[in-house]
Amino acid sequence: MEAISAGEVLMAIAEVFVEQRAQHTIQIDEHRHQAGTGEIDDYLNHSCDPNCALVFDRLELVALRPLVAGEELSFNYLSSEWDMAAPFRCGCGAAGCMRSISGFRWLAPAEQDALAPLASPYLRQRLAAERTKA
Ligand SMILES: [Zn+2]
Repeated sequence: MEAISAGEVLMAIAEVFVEQRAQHTIQIDEHRHQAGTGEIDDYLNHSCDPNCALVFDRLELVALRPLVAGEELSFNYLSSEWDMAAPFRCGCGAAGCMRSISGFRWLAPAEQDALAPLASPYLRQRLAAERTKA
């Protein structure tokens, strides 16, 4: 509807949580997932080169870059999901498309490192813990 500047908050994600992951949930912690609520955030598409990102501590969606009116909003599902309930093949067309969207745990270490700045606090902690174990 209107142009958006980078860093602008686009929406608050409903603070409704469930213990089990599902296709439209967003992982917050090991057994805490933001629930599908039927609100607009359930319909945000994945992109490997997204124009938005989640700010996990405030549960907000922010623009990563300036957006033009009418641009579809997307975020990287791999920034929130350790192991996805509903993996899929990506056809986003981005140069760095990950193709197989199955969860952060399935990325190569270099891909995990590249995505870490946008990843949730839970994923960053989990990654550190897994690497300490290995
Ligand atoms: Zn992709």
